Amino acid sequence: MNKRILLAEDEAAIADTLIYALQQEGFAVQWHQLGRELLASHASDPADLLILDIGLPDQSGFEVCKAIRQRSAVPVLFLTARAAEIDRVVGFEIGADDYVVKPFSPRELVGRVKAILRRSQPQTPLDASGLRHDAARAQISLNGQVLELTRYEYRLLAALLADPGRVFSRAQLMDKAWDEPEASFERTVDAHIKSLRAKLRAADADCDPIRTHRGLGYSLSWERA
Ligand code: CA
Repeated sequence: MNKRILLAEDEAAIADTLIYALQQEGFAVQWHQLGRELLASHASDPADLLILDIGLPDQSGFEVCKAIRQRSAVPVLFLTARAAEIDRVVGFEIGADDYVVKPFSPRELVGRVKAILRRSQPQTPLDASGLRHDAARAQISLNGQVLELTRYEYRLLAALLADPGRVFSRAQLMDKAWDEPEASFERTVDAHIKSLRAKLRAADADCDPIRTHRGLGYSLSWERA
């Protein structure tokens, strides 16, 4: 099935160029001029990746991304025009996976899109656990119910799910889940693991698969501790 991409961009010429380049590579692209249209579209039919212009007529791409991040870890690529915007994208909490600066070549953008989607390749679903990772949609569900995870919680759980039983050090988990791990503290991992456990238990009181290995790190296991 073709990967579905939603594009929010108010300049028709830019949108046309992008849509053409992406369609040439087999992507199904849906174009919106307003942020709220893209949000509604993603809510009714989640896309595999979002491309957000920052300067949209109704709200900024940052606001759109913030709204998305409250319920989805879908990859987001920003289109930026100004240096001041780039600083914010590169900053930590926006939730962007990548950005390109206008003017950009369509080829460069398609390359970035492919790289992002490659990084979120599907992994083996774990049926027995009740946890299922849909990497294409960047969602993890428990007993069929999609978990509402922040991007760090999502990336941490995805890393643990990819290799059950393996003990990951905090530094290894930071490498997998953080874009700039050197700028964060290892105890940040502990804080996100804690909120992740709470969300799993909230969705299923018996679901507590994350094990703490004192002085070592964390692993995922279905054996009772
Ligand atoms: Ca614009």
